[in-house]
Amino acid sequence: MTAPAERSHAGESPSSRWGRRGTAGATIAARLDFENVSRAFDGVTAVNDVSLSVEPGEVLCLLGHSGCGKTTLLRIAAGVERQTSGRVLINEREVAGPSVFQPPERRGVGLMFQDYALFPHLTIGENVAFGLTHLGRQDARETALRALDRVGLKSYVDDYPHALSGGEQQRVALARAIAPRPGVLLMDEPFSGLDRRLRDAVRDETLSVLRETRATCMLVTHDPEEAMRMGDRIALMRKGRLVQLGSADDLYNHPVDLFAARFFSELEDLEASAGDGEVETVFGRFPASGIARGQAVDVCVRPQGILLGEPGEGIAGRVTRRRFLGEVDLVEVAVSGRDRPLQARLRDGGRFAVGMDVGVRLDPRDVLAFERERD
Ligand code: ATP
Repeated sequence: MTAPAERSHAGESPSSRWGRRGTAGATIAARLDFENVSRAFDGVTAVNDVSLSVEPGEVLCLLGHSGCGKTTLLRIAAGVERQTSGRVLINEREVAGPSVFQPPERRGVGLMFQDYALFPHLTIGENVAFGLTHLGRQDARETALRALDRVGLKSYVDDYPHALSGGEQQRVALARAIAPRPGVLLMDEPFSGLDRRLRDAVRDETLSVLRETRATCMLVTHDPEEAMRMGDRIALMRKGRLVQLGSADDLYNHPVDLFAARFFSELEDLEASAGDGEVETVFGRFPASGIARGQAVDVCVRPQGILLGEPGEGIAGRVTRRRFLGEVDLVEVAVSGRDRPLQARLRDGGRFAVGMDVGVRLDPRDVLAFERERD
């Protein structure tokens, strides 16, 4: 069944549609720690010795390709999966360890998944009140109403989920997750079922609800843009391991390896040799900290760091193709001393025609060099 379209709210901004700020109750933010957590399934290690702390009130995005172990780590924090070894602590209290295993309902965590998981036979109000078992019926309804008000859906309290669009159902799922005021909110690809236009609005408003409720949040995503947009910090995972942890700026500008760099931008490979603290390419020498003379290196450049100018300004090249992509042009340029053309992303690419001779330079800020990994 196709979800119904969003109900019309003519003339309202997405944020005003979501109700007034300040109506969601604040929670006491909790700290979440993973200590050397591993999980194997039939001999396959899904999570491999991960140690990670999510600070109170922080939004931490777990980022990685499909199958790298993100969901498993989140499920271990929730208590719906048991680790093979290691410990999980919430507010420095062990909730999962060699001899302790608290069930999800005792951990004070809220869960939100990509499929919304609303109960179809319960009204929106009953869905949101579902986890509020510690409250009386009337208090639970009032708390649910407050949470629905915060996401702009108070008037839907007596409707059933099938009457709501995908975006609205996702907002109900958010209301349900925040209603019990969990210290930690765990979200698994919460926006992946939404179309792009809706996704941006729901993401931004979810972030403001998180800030307002001050819940600590761990959010799983495979989308680097989402991680950069949502996360105070990003934990990049590969093959069950934590590869890099830092701000979006850290991961984009100082990736620890080629894998981390490729996650955030397309890269053009360059042939290069290593000197001490630098690499040499046909485009000249570029600083490369940590690189020693004679090492095998992987060197690459971001497409926006490929600069085209007049012939004589840099290495000789010829434009072989141009594609208009809206905000930028993709300009392919053949360069002497290189087998494959380079693809430059240029804001003013319209001034380059196919067949034109150009000079090619690289912006040193976009040249990345890594010692080659053995595998
Ligand atoms: P996706 O984004 O596709 O959900 P992910 O990064 O969240 O991927 P996980 O779902 O954590 O990855 O899975 C990590 C690995 O563990 C995968 O190889 C997966 O097949 C395996 N795995 C996860 N759960 C189980 C299970 N219950 N039984 C067997 N293998 C499992």
